Amino acid sequence: MKTVALIAHDQKKQQMLDFVREHLSLLSPHSLLATATTGRRLRDELNLNVHTYLSGPLGGDQQIGARIAAGEVDLVIFLRDPLTAQPHEPDITALLRVCDVHNVPVATNLAGADFLVRAVLGNL
Ligand code: PGA
Repeated sequence: MKTVALIAHDQKKQQMLDFVREHLSLLSPHSLLATATTGRRLRDELNLNVHTYLSGPLGGDQQIGARIAAGEVDLVIFLRDPLTAQPHEPDITALLRVCDVHNVPVATNLAGADFLVRAVLGNL
């Protein structure tokens, strides 16, 4: 079983829900982590078992970053909103940095997410 982190900014949450729904058979057997609001929507609307951390602006990105740094995350899907300033921009940059430091695959848009989910979790 692999561990997948799922994070979406507010303008991207519906896209994340649609993405996860489309890839449910690949994602649902794995351990899923998310920031609070993203995770709650995945749980409520898709009935998924998701371990949630704090909301991104309250430190959730840092909590997930710590799991990545500890080598406990295999894949990160982080649907960022590039058009809206985020109050926790430094935390977002730090999360992406820790993925690069530890060579963890990360996608920040749907096209990359589709490839990575099929490559890391499927048999692309
Ligand atoms: P949220 O956090 O899922 O609690 O909205 C995501 C973020 O904005 O980093």
